[in-house]
Amino acid sequence: MSIPPDQTIKLLQDLVKIESINPSLSPKGSGEQAVAEFLERFCKERNLPYEIQEVTDGRSNFLTWVPGQEPNKRILFIAHMDTVPIDKWETDSGEQKAGRIYGRGSCDTKGSLAAMLIALSTLGDRQPNATVVVAASIDEEYRKIGARAIAQSRTSYDAAVVGEPSRLELIVAHMGSVRWQIEVEGVPAHTSRPHLGVNAITGMAKIVLALDEYHRTLLSRPQHPLVGSPLLTVSLIEGGLELTTVPPACRIWVDRRLIPGERPQDAIQEVEDILESFRQGDHNIKVRSLLPALEDPPPASSESSKIAAVAAAACVDVAGTGKYIGARGGSDASQLSLVGIPCIVLGPGSPEQAHTNGEFIEIEQVAKAVEIYQKIMLTY
Ligand SMILES: [Zn+2]
Repeated sequence: MSIPPDQTIKLLQDLVKIESINPSLSPKGSGEQAVAEFLERFCKERNLPYEIQEVTDGRSNFLTWVPGQEPNKRILFIAHMDTVPIDKWETDSGEQKAGRIYGRGSCDTKGSLAAMLIALSTLGDRQPNATVVVAASIDEEYRKIGARAIAQSRTSYDAAVVGEPSRLELIVAHMGSVRWQIEVEGVPAHTSRPHLGVNAITGMAKIVLALDEYHRTLLSRPQHPLVGSPLLTVSLIEGGLELTTVPPACRIWVDRRLIPGERPQDAIQEVEDILESFRQGDHNIKVRSLLPALEDPPPASSESSKIAAVAAAACVDVAGTGKYIGARGGSDASQLSLVGIPCIVLGPGSPEQAHTNGEFIEIEQVAKAVEIYQKIMLTY
């Protein structure tokens, strides 16, 4: 039975029209609460049970569900409500043009969220085996505290389908990341007497080059077959005081991408060993890592899980997709995987659309996602 796309399109447009920029990424961001309140009305109108789970001040996950025949089996469908900031909020947000819906969040990940909600709300009297929970999470784009709260709640899940744009292919492995700051401390002096100071920028320059060298060694390590090599990028730098002072401080941000099997603490330690070599001997650089780091561990690969097999069959059936692929970007799967939930990432739209200006999603992809999700709901 195919589901008419009209109500999916309407729901997606309604969701995209609500600005829900993550307030941790932009002080002007409104956050997710208006989306959660909208979903509350959506569920009330359809007599679906729901829960608003407050995670932090004024920011809540939203969960709704359909009970299954087996009381102890539970499957989670999760997509995030927050979006990254945008230079200019588009007035045509939610507009339908040439088979696409436009607007910030359309692809990342309100398209997945709309498809999951329509799949759940149109089950009718077909009762799934497992209880199906659809969760709209907060804060995926920053620290994933929404997914963490769901992972750590008392409810346990046998599997999870994470909605992120994958062109309806199956992401069974993706990278994690760990990000932190490193600081070099110098001694200020007048630039006419630089020998009286210690130049923090010069010290940092040596460290940046050493980290670049370390990145090259990462590329020569054994690769993960689906996601490739671990990576390190020095992505931000700031330093110095003003034009005529020997710089007393310099800071960088390091973004280290982890492949499945790597742990954040080991990646930090490897960099720490490099820093230690600069503290010693001739270099004598005063350098330290500023912790805690932002940790987003790579989820365990789910290639051999039941959920991957069930989802692959649904994808083949509906869309001729379902290839097992890897991805570089993170997702809520990181937090869910930490408590042992097998996760696949599967959603409509192209990952290249995420975080772009003029973001859009193809309606056909969303419509197929509804059918794929519903098939998984009914067959898991
Ligand atoms: Zn994103």
